[in-house]
Amino acid sequence: MNMISNPCLTIQTLVQRGVRISLCLLCGIFSLGAFAADEKSKEPTPTPAPSTTQSAKPAIVPAAPAVPLPVSKAPASQAVAKSSNNPDQDMTDVLVKKINKSSGDIVLRSSDLPPQPLAPKAEVKPEVKIEKKAEVKPKESPKSEPIVIVVKEELIAAPTIVPEIPWTYADGPGGPNNWANLKKENQLCAMGKMQSPINIITDNTVKGNLSPIVFEYQPFLLSLMDNGRTVEVSARGSNNILLNEKRYRLVGIHFHKPSEEVFNGERAEMSAHLVHEHYDGSKVIVAVMMSSSSQLFAASEKRRWWATSEENPLFQIILSNVPLVKNLSSSPRNVVINPLQLLPEDRTYFTYMGSLTEPPCTEGVTWIIMKNPLIVTAQQIHSFGQIYTNNFRPLQLQGDRIIKEIR
Ligand SMILES: [Zn+2]
Repeated sequence: MNMISNPCLTIQTLVQRGVRISLCLLCGIFSLGAFAADEKSKEPTPTPAPSTTQSAKPAIVPAAPAVPLPVSKAPASQAVAKSSNNPDQDMTDVLVKKINKSSGDIVLRSSDLPPQPLAPKAEVKPEVKIEKKAEVKPKESPKSEPIVIVVKEELIAAPTIVPEIPWTYADGPGGPNNWANLKKENQLCAMGKMQSPINIITDNTVKGNLSPIVFEYQPFLLSLMDNGRTVEVSARGSNNILLNEKRYRLVGIHFHKPSEEVFNGERAEMSAHLVHEHYDGSKVIVAVMMSSSSQLFAASEKRRWWATSEENPLFQIILSNVPLVKNLSSSPRNVVINPLQLLPEDRTYFTYMGSLTEPPCTEGVTWIIMKNPLIVTAQQIHSFGQIYTNNFRPLQLQGDRIIKEIR
């Protein structure tokens, strides 16, 4: 007695031994029928759930043993959720009524059952949302990777932002002993073999008749700056020296207190450095000692100091025009200086090969050190001391270098 005789797509469920329920997924029609014992053994038996609908058993097959009626394929959790309006109970009640009234195939329509809430729709929506979220995340993650890289680049670039330690004359991180550590370009400050300044021992010089220096200086408009380490005058115009038939242009003039140069272990009160450069880059620095006393080196009796009580006019112009603000170039109007006023009348000198006395300590510098000082007043020395003092590099080893002296 097969109740299914149309092309409906059915789902069959065992209601009781020998009785089955079919549900068409297309037309929504429930069908109830019987099938053979061998067919029942092949049917997948749904997991029976505890049911309280055993009151329908006698009405279906009186001879069958008591078997709990199966519930629908809906999960038990759904049945529990609809316990207030149990569809199984509703279907069982309708089937019992149909069986009692009819014989043969029993057709049960969905319209025979009371309307049920469509709970499954509520379950699908969250699944879709979850899938969408799962698809979006991997798409967003690659886009966020460049942002992470940018952050890393900023972190890598951070060390370059670390402020550079300025070199100084005072001991400390920027002091003379650490100049070579401040920049790669400063390696000669520690490794050089021809560094300056040095101690000139007058008994150990090579005395000879060397060609004199020709100073081709002329007056020029003053331009100067307090650069934080000394007062520096920028040379202008055509100011050159001629040494061994090679011409060097005056670049600048600056001052040290006390002198960087040492004679037989003694320093002058101050010194002026006149820096010259050839177009090939080679440098000649003329060093002039500045003293307020002609007796400074008198004990050595090695030299004759040119004594005067008059203040040096050029040095006074420089002191008078030192800017009030550091690292700001100043060009006072109509102020002219003549660099010849920084030279002693007697221009005999010592000479040796050395280096810059500040970073990067470049070597190959020809030093011309005037044997006779420029006399200035004690007040001028004192005034400069109010701006800078102890702005000198410590002595360097002479090594195997020779020092020549013009007689
Ligand atoms: Zn200098």
